[in-house]
Amino acid sequence: MLVYHLPGTFDTREAHLDLLWEAGATGLEERAGLIRAYFDDRTDLPAPIQDGEWRQEADQDWLAEFKANLRPVTAGRVTIVPPWLTAEVPAGQVPLIIEPGMAFGTGHHATTRMAVEALSALKLDGRTVLDVGTGSGVLAIAAALLGSGAALGVDIDPLTIPIARENAEINGVPHGRAVFEEGTLGSDLPEHHAPEGTFDVLVANLYAELHDLLAGEYAAHLIPGGPLVLTGILTSKLPLVDAALEREGFTDVQVRQDGEWALVTANA
Ligand code: SAM
Repeated sequence: MLVYHLPGTFDTREAHLDLLWEAGATGLEERAGLIRAYFDDRTDLPAPIQDGEWRQEADQDWLAEFKANLRPVTAGRVTIVPPWLTAEVPAGQVPLIIEPGMAFGTGHHATTRMAVEALSALKLDGRTVLDVGTGSGVLAIAAALLGSGAALGVDIDPLTIPIARENAEINGVPHGRAVFEEGTLGSDLPEHHAPEGTFDVLVANLYAELHDLLAGEYAAHLIPGGPLVLTGILTSKLPLVDAALEREGFTDVQVRQDGEWALVTANA
C-alpha cells in the first residue's frame, strides 16, 4: 500500500486537497497531524504538496483486524460472542452467538448491552416477548435463550430478517421460539404471533423521537403491568421519553445510563 504522508490537517491544507485528488490519490485520511493520501503508483506532485514523504506500508485487512479485536460482551446472565469465541464464554453464563454482519446488534453498542442486561433481570419463563427494531435479532434471541415463550422480532428493514433468522439458528433456538418478520407496531404487526395483539414483555432499541411516537402502541401491545424496556435513547432526550410514558399511563419508570446512552424500563 503506497501512502503519501503530507504534514498538516484537512483544515490547514484545505487548498491542497484538490491537488492530491488531481494527482491520482484514491483516498485521503487525516491522522495524528498528517494527511495520508493513498496512491496506486508513485507520481510527480506539484510544488505546494512536495513537502511530504512517500511510504510503502503493509497492507491492512480491515475486516480481519475488526474481527480479531472483537471481545465477548457480558450483559447480565448473557455473554454475547461471535461464533469463533464461544470457548471464551465463562461457565454459568448463557452464550449468545451473533455473527457480526450487516445488521445492527453485535452487543458492542451500549444500548444493546443494556437491553440484554435488562432482559436478563426479568423473569421471562414462558412469557411472550415483542422486540421492535430487531436488527440482528439479538434481543429476541436473548429472550428465547433466557427461557421466554414465543419471541417475535420485527424490523422495517427487510434485510435484517434473514440475518436474524440465521442468528436464531446458530444459537439453536427451537423453531417458533424466536420468529422474525418484516414490520412494525400498528396494523401490519404479524397477527398470528399474538392473537390478542398483546405481549407479556416489549423491548425496543430505537431512538427517543420514535419512542415518543410509538408509546401509545407500546401500551396497546402490552398486557396490563407488562414490562417495557426502551433504549437507543440519548440521555439529553430522556425528558421526551419520560413525558411519553407518563402520557400513556406507564408506571415505575426507571432509568439506567451508560455514557451518553440511556435505557428506560417501565410497566404498562
Ligand atoms: N435490536 C437490535 C439491538 O438492540 O442491537 C438492533 C437495534 S438498531 C439500533 C434499530 C433497528 O430498528 C434497525 O434494525 C432499524 O431498521 C429498525 N427500525 C427503525 N425504525 C423502525 C420502526 N419504526 N419499526 C420497526 N423497526 C424499526
